[in-house]
Amino acid sequence: MSTLLATASRLQQLHCAACHAPYSAFSLQRVSSCCAQPLVADYDLREPLTRAAGIQTTENSMWRYASLLPLLDETNRVSLGEGWTPMLALPRLAAHYGFQDLRLKDEGQNPTGSFKARGLSMAISKAKELGVTGCIIPTAGNAGVAMAAYCARAGLRAVVVMPRHTPQAFREECYWYGAEVHLVDGLINDCAARVRELNAAGELLDVSTLKEPYRLEGKKTMGYELAEQLNWRLPDVLLYPAGGGTGLIGIWKALREMQALGWLPATAQLPRMVAVQAANCCPLVETREGRQLNCQAYLGKPTIANGLAVPRPLGEPLMLDVLDESEGLALAITDEQMLEGLRELGKEEGLFVAPEGAAVWMAARQLLRTGWIRPEEQVLLLNTGSAQKYLENIVGLA
Ligand SMILES: *Cc1c(COP(=O)(O)O)cnc(C)c1O
Ligand SMILES: [Zn+2]
Repeated sequence: MSTLLATASRLQQLHCAACHAPYSAFSLQRVSSCCAQPLVADYDLREPLTRAAGIQTTENSMWRYASLLPLLDETNRVSLGEGWTPMLALPRLAAHYGFQDLRLKDEGQNPTGSFKARGLSMAISKAKELGVTGCIIPTAGNAGVAMAAYCARAGLRAVVVMPRHTPQAFREECYWYGAEVHLVDGLINDCAARVRELNAAGELLDVSTLKEPYRLEGKKTMGYELAEQLNWRLPDVLLYPAGGGTGLIGIWKALREMQALGWLPATAQLPRMVAVQAANCCPLVETREGRQLNCQAYLGKPTIANGLAVPRPLGEPLMLDVLDESEGLALAITDEQMLEGLRELGKEEGLFVAPEGAAVWMAARQLLRTGWIRPEEQVLLLNTGSAQKYLENIVGLA
């Protein structure tokens, strides 16, 4: 009985990210009908919940935070052991560049090799709970693989639409999970257009980034985890590779929820959040620096960090809010710099990270050099994936 109490979901309702209109959290939802914007899940955070009661510490996955996740019936959980990834110190790189406290949370160790596992485990669990029989997704690679795996595990039909230039490993893995794969000339926004055609009748649930409310909830568990792993003392600066932005928005949401629950020290400062993008596709940087009004007409180019090739993220306003509220920054890193970062993380720390993770490291280096990060600050890098599937992008360049 005690485990039942600890994991009973506090889910209350959803709200429109733009106008805050409430929506039911107990029926199948997509984007808000008022503003066609993301729906965000709200929990009852006023009823006291201690860390001891709210965290199921015997569960070594993101599901240890089930009380603050949206699944109502545990039997609908679709899990491959996602989350509770290691928080590693980077002592050699720290000493070499002059960081006093530099760490990396290694999301490359998730099932299917990226942090997309968290979001898709959650979204597919909710899809199952709400009676969905099949899902469709436009993807730059990792999200499609994760969706295919969790759909297989749940017994749901899976349709994945990815750019033709995506490294072959992503496509192959989808086939092995039994998914239907479509290849499109262009970037993820072109894939999204194909998804609309393929799913014109609407019989599949579109689990595109922020077009259903629950991938965000899976991704937010990174925020709970990093706080718990750091013994509730948050880093000063947190760097994250932003494509669609669910990780950035989700981590910030978790920090706010933990504040409301009283899980963080009352005086705790929240970290300054850094959104790292690829120079070939950096809509957030362009908007934030005033070179465009918003990303809606932005044209991106492919990058070796496939997950960052998102030219027109639906969550742009939410990402900008996070950067404003946290006094953070958006920054672009070139593909050449990512390769340098890959070599350094490999040779100095034994880590084979996705180019997205290498970009984050290079951004930290740059911000230390310019003084935006001070040497005594605690710096946390989010490495979102493993490099294994990106070989075509980097082969021969070590
Ligand atoms: C998808 C992806 C990203 C970007 O994540 P968003 O949640 O879309 O911002 C970063 N890194 C990797 C490895 C990815 O697969
Ligand atoms: Zn609205």
